[in-house]
Amino acid sequence: MSRLDSFIRRLEAQRACLDEAARIIAGVPGPVFEIGLGNGRTFDHLRALCPDREIFVFERQVAAHPDCVPEPEYLFLGDLRESLPAAEARFAGRVALIHVDIGSGDEAATREIAGFIAARLPAFLRPAGVIVSDQCLDASGIPPAALPASVAPGRYHMYRVP
Ligand code: SAM
Repeated sequence: MSRLDSFIRRLEAQRACLDEAARIIAGVPGPVFEIGLGNGRTFDHLRALCPDREIFVFERQVAAHPDCVPEPEYLFLGDLRESLPAAEARFAGRVALIHVDIGSGDEAATREIAGFIAARLPAFLRPAGVIVSDQCLDASGIPPAALPASVAPGRYHMYRVP
């Protein structure tokens, strides 16, 4: 598979999982977290999927398309090691959907931050809440959820609180 094919399949998997997660949480109240704003593509997609929900974004440094920058009150700016713990008291047990997209070319750094996130996210989710992630977050202890049929195992990850 060429790198172009691989990139396209990753984005298709990402979109399919976000679409599926939005369906799953239709009856689950609560805000959405976008962890990793990047260009703002998935933030924009989440806005379209969940127009009536608050979406809070966690990002080290905003470099998104100008149309895809959250309002300041919805942005947690800074490193996740500080911003996630700072948000915990406010959101504990309330979040319906968390999308994690934090991968970079630095595999060791990505693994390290994924481990940190895996330990932190369970505290935020409400029952039946969902995580969609570019990284394996099995260490969170939250059971995996079925992927959409079009998504190969391991290409993207989904978890759902019982
Ligand atoms: N979801 C985005 C999109 O669709 O455009 C792409 C996100 S990009 C792959 C990963 C983002 O995660 C980067 O913008 C990076 O700054 C952010 N990130 C990675 N590690 C981080 C950390 N430790 N703290 C805060 N942000 C982090």
